[in-house]
Amino acid sequence: MSHAVLWFLVKNMIYPPSPKNIELLSQRLLGSAIVALPTETVYGLAGLASSDQAIAAIYAQKKRPQFNPLIIHGYNLDLLKSHVIWNPWAEKLAEAFWPGPLTVVLPKNQNSNLSLLALAGLETVAIRMPQHPLMHAVLSKVGLLAAPSANPSGSISPTCAEDVEIAFHGALPVLDGGACIVGLESTILDLSGEAPQLLRPGGISLEDLENLLGPLTKGSPLAIKAPGQLETHYAPNLPLRMNVSVGQKNEAFLAFGPEYPEEQEGLLNLSPKGDLQEAASHLFAMMRKLDQSHYAGIAVAPIPHQGLGLAINDRLKRAAAPRG
Ligand code: AMP
Ligand code: MG
Repeated sequence: MSHAVLWFLVKNMIYPPSPKNIELLSQRLLGSAIVALPTETVYGLAGLASSDQAIAAIYAQKKRPQFNPLIIHGYNLDLLKSHVIWNPWAEKLAEAFWPGPLTVVLPKNQNSNLSLLALAGLETVAIRMPQHPLMHAVLSKVGLLAAPSANPSGSISPTCAEDVEIAFHGALPVLDGGACIVGLESTILDLSGEAPQLLRPGGISLEDLENLLGPLTKGSPLAIKAPGQLETHYAPNLPLRMNVSVGQKNEAFLAFGPEYPEEQEGLLNLSPKGDLQEAASHLFAMMRKLDQSHYAGIAVAPIPHQGLGLAINDRLKRAAAPRG
């Protein structure tokens, strides 16, 4: 057997989605190990939400700053509710958008046994009910999981099992749920204050939220207090420029819509038909593909600032930010 094949056998930690593997990985989670799981947004690095040991392992593995709290995922609504002080906005939103790519921040119930490390010491909790059937299957066996994206902090989020395998050099088990359908992180709404505030645009559009709740104010994430710390995020190795119509000769080009510079080398199109949902689902995978050292940078076409375009432009802006 060649070394390459042997390496693959040893290193391949991608688990096909069988009932046996779901049970096996759920048992590991219950034993406070960490496991990468598919969700409809991006792959998550999951650990038991009540286990300081698992949560510490997530921060260490991701090299994530410990002041940046984690989103708590659950499939049982009553269980999720029991850790927060629920309110009518949350009720309306959960009815309309759960399971799905929406996270809500609520005051913590003082009886909650969630790991304080996961909440970064805050008196609020961010909760979400994901939609992916495999994530659902695991959650129904283990209860609540903290699950930030399964990538080193600051780099491009993983949208397939192989992305996770490569990012952590095969050190972590990954349950294979195929390519993520939404492909962008959840929208985060803070419901712990006087009025709902948008903390992060994401997989549920602002228009859909405002149709339900009325006009929203845009807040700045409570947790992100260190100056500029998280301005750079989702970052490829190459520099990235936004709102470019024609790229330079040595640049890769990420197009959007039916009109694009056909002659451009290293051309990928987020959605030739100009569909923002399709573009969102391709964004991270295509950024990754173009992030190759033989290009001098990545130029990205203008993306309309509406619907999921808000979240796409938010991620691109952070990917383009000067590196700190
Ligand atoms: P992610 O990096 O995708 O895991 O999302 C985490 C983000 O959710 C944080 O950076 C905060 O903006 C928000 N968040 C998570 N937990 C809390 C919390 N307890 N209170 C307020 N915001 C939170
Ligand atoms: Mg992330």
